[in-house]
Amino acid sequence: MEIKEKGNLIYLESEVFFETGLVTHAFCGRKGGISKSPFDSLNLSYRVGDKEDKVLKNYKIIGEKFEINHNHIVTVNQSHGDEILIIDTLPERIEELSFKAKNLKKDALITNKPLIPLGVLTADCLPIMFLDRKNQVIALAHAGWRGTVLRIGQKVFSEMKRLYGTSPHDCLVSFGASIKECCYEVGEEVIRCLKENFPNWMDFVTLKGKGKWNFAMVDLNLFQMTEIGIPPENISRTNLCTSCHQDLFFSYRAENGITGRCLSFIMLK
Ligand SMILES: [Zn+2]
Repeated sequence: MEIKEKGNLIYLESEVFFETGLVTHAFCGRKGGISKSPFDSLNLSYRVGDKEDKVLKNYKIIGEKFEINHNHIVTVNQSHGDEILIIDTLPERIEELSFKAKNLKKDALITNKPLIPLGVLTADCLPIMFLDRKNQVIALAHAGWRGTVLRIGQKVFSEMKRLYGTSPHDCLVSFGASIKECCYEVGEEVIRCLKENFPNWMDFVTLKGKGKWNFAMVDLNLFQMTEIGIPPENISRTNLCTSCHQDLFFSYRAENGITGRCLSFIMLK
């Protein structure tokens, strides 16, 4: 994945997705907005204590820079579950849907409709984008450790397959920036869940001390994608850790829970 710039706005772009010519997408960083500390500066969440007018202006900035209608960006009330919002809306109802969706407790979105930008908000959690290049279907999921344990990525793929006939070979996947094993310390609660759900759980953790482990959450999500047959060459990722790069991304852990959220979005053209 490449780091790109639009003025002072910094974002990651998957070349594999870009080359299809089918979508507009970006994993936005924290720079290039107008919010003040600790939400500086491109915070896109209304739920973290930032001023509403600043967040709205940040959405407008994204709309202008990427030439999408910021009122049409569909985000949901992410709740670390595994529920998926399937969007099958008439174009004239998108704005209404976008308004309503903000209160729906979902952690992933799928659509095969053009001109609907799907969005997820993260600060350390992993944004996962999907593109079925044959059937022209997109999806976007938010995975923290809970979503990872719930196999949210695999569930999104299953829904794409069930509804639109997506095959692993035609499914492209892209992982945005998230907290990585260098900084992601977890305790017994997480380890217990991993043990219960993944026979190979030890491949994804490193013991750091009594009851403390470092968790390679991205690697476990990557494993889940290859487990369902998505070819490794279809998957793009970044090595950037949000906690190591607070200059580029919001990090919930590194900033003690008081910070903004980065937007990742994808839209079928
Ligand atoms: Zn790190």
